Amino acid sequence: MRWISGIMAATLAACAPVTQESAAPADGANSDSIDNISDLAEGEAPAQFDWKQNFPSWYAAVEPFQIVGTGRRGIYFVGTEGLGIYFIPTDAGHIVIDGGMPGEGQYVADAIRKLGFDPRDVKILLNSHAHLDHSGGLAELKALTGAKLIANEEDRSALEGGFYLGSEDDGTMNAPPVKVDRTIADGEQLKLGHVTLTAHLTPGHSRGCTTWTMPVVQGGETFEALIFCSATVAANRLVGPPQYEGIVSDYRKTFAKTKDWKPDIFLANHPEFAGLAEKRERQKAGEPLAFVDREGFPALMVKLEKAFEEALEKQTLKQDTIMSD
Ligand SMILES: [Zn+2]
Repeated sequence: MRWISGIMAATLAACAPVTQESAAPADGANSDSIDNISDLAEGEAPAQFDWKQNFPSWYAAVEPFQIVGTGRRGIYFVGTEGLGIYFIPTDAGHIVIDGGMPGEGQYVADAIRKLGFDPRDVKILLNSHAHLDHSGGLAELKALTGAKLIANEEDRSALEGGFYLGSEDDGTMNAPPVKVDRTIADGEQLKLGHVTLTAHLTPGHSRGCTTWTMPVVQGGETFEALIFCSATVAANRLVGPPQYEGIVSDYRKTFAKTKDWKPDIFLANHPEFAGLAEKRERQKAGEPLAFVDREGFPALMVKLEKAFEEALEKQTLKQDTIMSD
């Protein structure tokens, strides 16, 4: 039954149904790879799922850059084309949110160095959620920087065990285990130097899925930036047995909680969710506030909630069919 892993792995990105743009990604990579994987269901399974071959954008290098900020303060992009990884420097040490795929810790450290900072000054590592495309590089990054990892208690077992919660026996979803040095609760603030980040538990996509917000100054104006965890269904089982107990009500709580959120700057762990590449092009063309986008987050959440309810209906229907067989 190995091919199931392949299918599950392929649905991890699950960008296609979410937005019109992502339904036909510019490079076509993700949609092609998902089609390829669907074919596997009928044939022989590959011995090992090849993430790099199926999700090339997750490994495609991007020149690191400052998204928003003043001088050497603000938020920088140190991710890949398909994975959002964010660097927040302070005079008291630096913060990194997410580590990319297993093996990408060195890539992130190199990106930080390219920006003129020392990776060894990174003091805190944060994680949007414990899925290998965002947590896989954390152990390596931790070893390279000596930083402490702070995460929500609900994701701790998956991070420290190196597995996908509820799919512990699926080796393709494993990540190098990484120790959580400190936990952070919903609504708790994290201060380092001039930076104050607030943790918002937005569970469902993972049990400890954490969205981060922080004020950031540019041109004398303060903007509220939000770095979104995720709320796609992707590889998650919502019913029989669910990925984890309470997953459906968690998703609904997250949709209700975020209903009125309208951040000035919206960033995501998969850059295409926030149209990062397009905003970056406008920034390069001379638009200093290209990343200010107050409609982006609410618009995405409307789509994600609809997609969630549809997926729930589909999975429930499928479950009922199995039960009545
Ligand atoms: Zn995920």
